[in-house]
Amino acid sequence: MPEPLFDKVALVGIGLIGSSLARAVRHGGLATIIAISSRSEKTLARARELGLGDVYEQDAAEAVRDADLVIVSVPVGASGAVAKAIAAGLKPGAIVTDVGSTKASVIAQMQPHLPDSVHFIPGHPIAGTEDSGPDAGFADLFEGRWCILTPLPDTDVDALARLSAFWEGCGAMVDRMDPEHHDMVLAIVSHLPHIIAYNIVGTADDLEAVTKSEVIKYSASGFRDFTRLAASDPTMWRDVCLHNSDAILEMLARFSEDLSALQRAIRWGDGEKLFEMFTRTRAIRRSIIEAGQDIDVPDFGRHALAHPEKP
Ligand code: NAP
Repeated sequence: MPEPLFDKVALVGIGLIGSSLARAVRHGGLATIIAISSRSEKTLARARELGLGDVYEQDAAEAVRDADLVIVSVPVGASGAVAKAIAAGLKPGAIVTDVGSTKASVIAQMQPHLPDSVHFIPGHPIAGTEDSGPDAGFADLFEGRWCILTPLPDTDVDALARLSAFWEGCGAMVDRMDPEHHDMVLAIVSHLPHIIAYNIVGTADDLEAVTKSEVIKYSASGFRDFTRLAASDPTMWRDVCLHNSDAILEMLARFSEDLSALQRAIRWGDGEKLFEMFTRTRAIRRSIIEAGQDIDVPDFGRHALAHPEKP
């Protein structure tokens, strides 16, 4: 096993992402000590039962004391309050990062509270499932997935290299982006698909002519693929919508225009247009498979990949 990259890693928030990090850190020998903090006694107790860390503190400021790397994994709307809570406990020279699904808002919330003596490098692993909490995590969640870091203009290059090495140690590939660009890219690849899924599942639930039991019975015809996304954590997605609203609204406007064009083609029986569009989109799926971001089986590989190594 190579030398640990960090002496002490503190994980503030130990849900799906925090607990996957704990498992990946342990598995890859990336730190000597893993300190874990969660705001509720219940989640912290569960993390302890699962043996995810070495030290458990409900007080986040205590957990981050002497840590060389602090990773905040809480809903994005809570990141400012967490930064404020940990600020006094941070060691000078520590790297502070996060995993939040929006970046400009997290930076605006966290940066004012963090001392100049730490290296704040925001991040976002592009990996997840619809499950939440410490039981939901698994060590290879980040394997072969991208982690986007959004360094600030004055970010220390050594700290950035150490954080990149950490994510690579978790199995991820690292990309760098400016925060606003990240928010625009994620609005289309992640936020919009979730919003559409929440919407379509909500529409089906509201229908009166088709019963709920019919929706469930015949869901294999397409609907069920939306329900996976629409089963995602409501707190997380409420916060994403509130904290990336500009980019999401811009993408929704584009989406609505394109949907109107599709609606028009259906109304006017423009089969050529429909065929041309459905052919173009099919190629995108092939590119995703070729890029190793999904596997080529009919159920999207969800069964094969589902939680392969929970402790
Ligand atoms: P999760 O499983 O629901 O876990 C959330 C953690 O944050 C728990 O430890 C919870 O503590 C804590 N928490 C919740 N509300 C809090 C608050 N107001 N103040 C302080 N702590 C709070 O969430 P997750 O899926 O790991 O998501 C964490 C972060 O990762 C989010 O920012 C999300 O945007 C990002 N992310 C998620 C995914 C995904 O697919 N889920 C993918 C990439 C990035 P208690 O349980 O003790 O209350």
